[in-house]
Amino acid sequence: MPERRTEVYDVVINGASVAGCAAAILYARRGARVALLERRSGMSAHKVLCTHYIQASAYPVMAELGLAEALDGIGAVRNSADYWTKWGWIKPEAETGPGVLPHGYSVRRESLDPLLRRMAAETPGVDLKPGHTVNELIAEGDRVVGVAGTSAEGTFAVRAELVVGADGKDSTVARLAGAPAETADNNRFSYFAYFRGIPHPEGRRSARVYYLDPDNAYVMPNEDGVTVIAAVLSKARLDEFRDDIEGAYRNFVRSLPEGPDIDKAEMISKVIGTVNYPLISRRPSGSGYALIGDAALTSDPLSAVGCAWAMQSASWLVGATSDALLGNGELDTALTAYTERHAMETGAHHHLIADYAQARPFNEIEAFMFEAAARDSRLAQHFHTFGSRLMTLEDFMAPDVVAHAEKVNGWSLSEETLRSLAEGPPVAEAHTAGHGTTSAVAGTEGGAR
Ligand SMILES: Cc1cc2nc3c(=O)[nH]c(=O)nc-3n(C[C@H](O)[C@H](O)[C@H](O)COP(=O)(O)OP(=O)(O)OC[C@H]3O[C@@H](n4cnc5c(N)ncnc54)[C@H](O)[C@@H]3O)c2cc1C
Repeated sequence: MPERRTEVYDVVINGASVAGCAAAILYARRGARVALLERRSGMSAHKVLCTHYIQASAYPVMAELGLAEALDGIGAVRNSADYWTKWGWIKPEAETGPGVLPHGYSVRRESLDPLLRRMAAETPGVDLKPGHTVNELIAEGDRVVGVAGTSAEGTFAVRAELVVGADGKDSTVARLAGAPAETADNNRFSYFAYFRGIPHPEGRRSARVYYLDPDNAYVMPNEDGVTVIAAVLSKARLDEFRDDIEGAYRNFVRSLPEGPDIDKAEMISKVIGTVNYPLISRRPSGSGYALIGDAALTSDPLSAVGCAWAMQSASWLVGATSDALLGNGELDTALTAYTERHAMETGAHHHLIADYAQARPFNEIEAFMFEAAARDSRLAQHFHTFGSRLMTLEDFMAPDVVAHAEKVNGWSLSEETLRSLAEGPPVAEAHTAGHGTTSAVAGTEGGAR
């Protein structure tokens, strides 16, 4: 049998989707030599199971990548959202008007993924290798020092200082490295479809997000006049979808208050969906390897944080490790710094998202904040900023905010809830399995999109 050829790089990244392409570009610009492996062979390959509302929290990294400019160039929608609640609409732009609040982008993955992959391939220092499937880690003692797998040419091996798993929810790198993981149930299922000809109220292109408690829906305009409409329901309603998925989906969308008129619009896709999507949180680094994007944290699709955190975690990793990779510092220390940053940025948010994914009715804090945000434009902005993941939980529930919301609502949180708030937000324990967060205020999920 011929000996397989081994190539050597500074970094090898497995997975050329949102997280992997972002990391490859950022590493290479800092001078690292990067192998970017992707099992799919076509440059136009894209993730189908995604509704691609990219939160504003990712704007700085999108700007750094040059992606924001490129997305403007292809007509991606600078996104914002209005939120339906039983207390009325939460309208974050009521005071500012459109285009003032921080924004991310809404752009179909069939546009985003090939664009990002092309940007990565064109970055000097990145060797994009489509059609390469990783199925083995190379180790020296306990340390991961490379990957191996198969391509159309046969087997291949790549050695590198650092192996990055950007290979999604079912990450091969994480599995082979035995990365500690925690999973949590997701008690909702979702179906979505694409439409042309959906008019948007007042000509604005804000998404409309429905908090039907416990069911949810969203109507999100994208580039090229295409709107994606998603139904995200409690699993208690799965039976309704058993015999006729499209019929049940259409009936649900028709039932939305002030909902889109899908009967006058053209549906341009099948109904796409998933009924089981558990949340997975893995420790984002170990000896010689790191995980980014969904490989590190697969949160609830309902909260629309996946693409933003994929790019942001790429940026956190590159920021923490690039000096060490280029010979200036200790890689293991840098990886620990990345793990801590990841937990600090995502831990409390993910904890609340996982709690809301139980599809239980609103808890007291949620009812309090949603009602107040529906009644007050300043609180509406505040709610949206938190949901855009631009604010910590501590700031979201700061004492002056709670006092203002009490005035607006005309009722107060219970003593017990106030006490739990005073105890503070969850503390990220970066060294435990997954994100290992504990919370005194479980269930303050708001402004998910
Ligand atoms: C129903 C649904 C709706 C969603 N809606 C939103 C939304 O509105 N907004 C949002 O921000 N997020 C949303 N998400 C989440 C979002 O899709 C993910 O968080 C995001 O795609 C993660 O990007 P990634 O690069 O980490 O992983 P992925 O996009 O999953 O990419 C992983 C890549 O690794 C490659 N790969 C895997 N294994 C191997 C291997 N062994 N060898 C080589 N290559 C490999 C894959 O081919 C793929 O290209 C949604 C998810 C779902 C399920």
